[in-house]
Amino acid sequence: MSGLSENNLHTTGVAESEADSRRFHAQFERAEPICESGQLQADVQLERDRTVGHGAVHVLTFDIEDWFHLLDNDSTRTVSQWGSFVPRIEANVDRILDLLSAKGQQATFFCLGWIAEQHPDVIRRIDAMGHEIGSHTYSHQLVYEQTTEEFKRDLAKSVTVLEDLTGKKVRSFRAPGFSATEDCTSMFDTLAEFEIDVDCSIFPADRAHGGFRDFASAEPVTIECRGARIREFPLNIFRFQGRRIVFSGGGYFRLLPYWAIRGMMQRSGYVMTYFHPRDFDPNQPVIADLSRSRRFKSYVGLSSAFKKLERLISDFRFVDVGTAERRVDWSRVVSI
Ligand SMILES: [Zn+2]
Repeated sequence: MSGLSENNLHTTGVAESEADSRRFHAQFERAEPICESGQLQADVQLERDRTVGHGAVHVLTFDIEDWFHLLDNDSTRTVSQWGSFVPRIEANVDRILDLLSAKGQQATFFCLGWIAEQHPDVIRRIDAMGHEIGSHTYSHQLVYEQTTEEFKRDLAKSVTVLEDLTGKKVRSFRAPGFSATEDCTSMFDTLAEFEIDVDCSIFPADRAHGGFRDFASAEPVTIECRGARIREFPLNIFRFQGRRIVFSGGGYFRLLPYWAIRGMMQRSGYVMTYFHPRDFDPNQPVIADLSRSRRFKSYVGLSSAFKKLERLISDFRFVDVGTAERRVDWSRVVSI
């Protein structure tokens, strides 16, 4: 998310004049996905002239948390503070489920254990519609700020509540805020201990709350730990104006025009999306104590985001993480 601010709006997303618009358009046409292993990009290159997205692995995921689950911010930091906010999760998730149902698309939902406890029907509805449920921890804390023991207790609590609700084993995980950094390698050991063998926590670029800029790949890889193999689905990234950018969720998705997102989707053999219910809720209250730049990143583009999601879901065929796992030829991916 680095580089996304009001000051560089004109170089990242919003062009003022027609000339600006043409220049911006041309720059995006030249932007290319960054990907070290190359397998899926090569596959999609072969398919590019056929149906858009055919042969590609476009993964649809949502992190199920409420509008006040903002990380690293004083008034929203802990579980004890969350009870004072009026929840909006039920209606916001229902809107997403209705859209997926109308378009016949399946997704993976990384759910907070706290949400599962407070709003069990949300989890039951997601599960009943055949979507996959993974863990997003219980209390939404930054992994790099937790000890191994704290992380383990938190993960255990989320897995228990989610499995009790669905009767299904939780197999996949995403760290809050992609906070799996170089310093968090014990996180993978803990996941293996819980027999969670698919992870989606790596953001291979700079980021405010984590990011693993030097991670070996922006495509699926296997991570060896404790004799187990974790299948890692990192976020995919683009190089644009010398920066690594992620277009498939968060502030960039809300900020960028749809044609730019569509173009990058078409050029990507592998895409990992990450949306939150609050990304599509223009009526959510504004958290008062956010810094000016956090406020911009959190609330930019909310009013048009759902329309953009509808177009994305209409234009491309997505899969959930479990289906993506079956589509990848793991004998060909990098192991680290
Ligand atoms: Zn989160």
